[in-house]
Amino acid sequence: MDEIRKWKNLCKARDMVEILNKKYFQASYVQNTDEAKKKLFNMIEEGSTVAIGGSVTLSEMGLVDILRNGNYKFFDRYQNLPFDPDIVDIHRKALTADFLLTGTNAITKNGELVNTDCTGNRVAPMIFGPKNVIIVAGINKIVNCLEDAFKRIKEIAPMNSRRIRHETPCAETGTCVDCDCKKRICNFTTIIHNGIKFEGRIKIIIIAEEIGY
Ligand code: SF4
Repeated sequence: MDEIRKWKNLCKARDMVEILNKKYFQASYVQNTDEAKKKLFNMIEEGSTVAIGGSVTLSEMGLVDILRNGNYKFFDRYQNLPFDPDIVDIHRKALTADFLLTGTNAITKNGELVNTDCTGNRVAPMIFGPKNVIIVAGINKIVNCLEDAFKRIKEIAPMNSRRIRHETPCAETGTCVDCDCKKRICNFTTIIHNGIKFEGRIKIIIIAEEIGY
């Protein structure tokens, strides 16, 4: 990436962090995924219970392998579990974790976090349950307003549906038709307006690069 683009991305990340901190989140920014990983693991004490919300950003950072190294009590949703009830059980445990690690679908320039989920196992613990929530997001998640956040979510949902192999119309065509099929992935949408209720609980690391979708 050329230096000017890098600088512009850093300015964008810095400005976003300033807004988020005014909204009582504990936000910071880094240059790249390596720095994000370092920062994130500095926040998590060894031996902590850790859960992870479905996130392309976190997958691209290779966090699952690190969390399986035995230093953490990892509620591992990516094990090859045969039955749905077993996975749901892990999602329930995630609600009690010391740390939830996740991405976010959108961050508005007003400092709101907007997310849509299929099962609710990501959006629910972002709001309440885990003692700490660490959100990692690239600058591509930053949008102007709530309306743009909803628009962004509709644009990326078909990619997510295809990625997780849900048989939805959008996973074939790439376009949302507001389906009502059983495998629909857009069932729960949340807006986190600020971090004031449990100040410091939600920590946000903005990466000054485009990562995830
Ligand atoms: S509502 Fe249905 S068609 Fe639209 S993005 Fe979600 S899963 Fe796809």
